[in-house]
Amino acid sequence: MTDSSPRYDLVLAGGEVFDAATGASGVTDVAVTGDRVARIAPGLAAQGRQVVDCSGQYVLPGLVEAHTHIFAEVSKVGAPPDEAHLHRGVVAACDAGTVGASTFAAFERFVAAPARMRLVNFLNVSVLGLIDFRFGELLNPGTLVPEDALEIAAANPHRVRGFKIRLSEDVVGLEWRTLLKRSLALSAEAGLPLMIHIGETPEPLPVILDLLRPGDVVAHCYTGKPYGILGDGKVLPEVYAARERGVLFESAHGKSNLSFAVARPAIEQGFLPDVITSDTSGRNWRGPVFDLVTSMAKLRAMGMTMEQIVPRVTSAPARLTGLDAEGYGSLVEGGPAHVTVLADAEEAELPDAAGNRIVAPRLEPSLVLLAGEQVPTVPWRGLNR
Ligand SMILES: [Zn+2]
Repeated sequence: MTDSSPRYDLVLAGGEVFDAATGASGVTDVAVTGDRVARIAPGLAAQGRQVVDCSGQYVLPGLVEAHTHIFAEVSKVGAPPDEAHLHRGVVAACDAGTVGASTFAAFERFVAAPARMRLVNFLNVSVLGLIDFRFGELLNPGTLVPEDALEIAAANPHRVRGFKIRLSEDVVGLEWRTLLKRSLALSAEAGLPLMIHIGETPEPLPVILDLLRPGDVVAHCYTGKPYGILGDGKVLPEVYAARERGVLFESAHGKSNLSFAVARPAIEQGFLPDVITSDTSGRNWRGPVFDLVTSMAKLRAMGMTMEQIVPRVTSAPARLTGLDAEGYGSLVEGGPAHVTVLADAEEAELPDAAGNRIVAPRLEPSLVLLAGEQVPTVPWRGLNR
């Protein structure tokens, strides 16, 4: 070089850089200038105004969380988005059904618009949304008002990326089939996917899967509650058949829905979630869920590889939420500089939703970039408990 002035604002040097689509990785450098990824290639460190040594760490596209509850202070399950996610390595997140048509304006004004990170949502089919988990939002079936949901979705395409129905018996009662069919019809009319929360549904999973279409999403695929994906310890053939048709499955840990006793055999049998999500909420962000990176560490301990995990927390959730169109979920030259650098942290006792524990190395965000700007990280909430 004849010009010795640094060419890039920041170089993340020598990390294991992942391809978000395939999960393949290799050691290289990532150079950032302004809010963009300028170059991905080895040997860039000498050209950085600031250089961060990432050797021995994982350099990923900024993580995308496709199932969380972030309607803080309005919903009893709401966690604050930036604190629960951004400062723990997640740059974009999708609220999964906390908000209904009647509460959407408040979500937009007090949560989504002011957040530093990019937020979208799956609108609850009940106009009430999920305000208080003790009182099922569809026990009065009249709260499913398709016109209201469709109007909010049509007026807010920047925000609403799908719909959500919680199909547990204590939420839908005996009217579940009518409510599910009306939800499927309204999501078809909007051209958006429907996310279906399972676990303690009124009927076994195959009965429900039968009604779902390609692109619909089953939340809590490793739930230990009845009725889940296993029968006699084996993943049900109807579950594979639904996947074959294009129905998606996401892990959604949540306070009560990740069971190691389900996840381990399912992963051993090759049934991986299409999307890894934490289902972080105000009820679980101080445990047992904590955050998305802890959910990743748990599934790694259940047998998934980083190569399998990375696409499922980057490109796949970005596609599901339509955020891929804005450059989320990938790390490419010329793309936005959303980056999450993760380090293997010390081993810890990690609980599932039933209170079973495994000892496994955690993952810890060591550096987070949102559009090229470094975001502060906070320590794991499982420390000092
Ligand atoms: Zn949830």
